[in-house]
Amino acid sequence: MDERVPHAQMFHGPEGSGSLVLALAYASYLSCVDRQPGDSCGKCSSCLKYDKLVHPDLHFVFPVFRTRTITKNPVSDDFISEWRTALLENPYMTLQQWYAHLGLENKQGMINKWESEAILRKLNLKAFESTHKVMIIWMPEKMNASASNKLLKMIEEPPPMTVFCLWLKTRD
Ligand SMILES: [Zn+2]
Repeated sequence: MDERVPHAQMFHGPEGSGSLVLALAYASYLSCVDRQPGDSCGKCSSCLKYDKLVHPDLHFVFPVFRTRTITKNPVSDDFISEWRTALLENPYMTLQQWYAHLGLENKQGMINKWESEAILRKLNLKAFESTHKVMIIWMPEKMNASASNKLLKMIEEPPPMTVFCLWLKTRD
């Protein structure tokens, strides 16, 4: 089997398209320990963790903001359980649906520099269980300038990790 995997994959699509579903299916396939022709098995421990979005080698980055409880330097991991619930309910969710899930429809989320520091730390981790680490960056266009400069550098010098960047066209 050809084990070469591109380090960074970019997806471009309108909001609510299947980019996230595709990225997750591909990541799950890479990590599956009993791959079937063209598909993951759906039964191994990796597949079961992917089904619940709790695989330790699967990382998500998405726009976040300060809230009443997270008052300082918010990062995606602060919202990971809400994110899993929202995504499992609707893998085609839009940015507005994500904000609505948090009850913060009127706020604008961002991928900030604390997040890019967290990304760098995660890129330096060894994979825990899988042969691949995966980082899915949802809506990198919501990065501020300092975060995106760091991210671009990472993609130019590919880390030993598969990074999926999902650029979605939003209406705002
Ligand atoms: Zn499997």
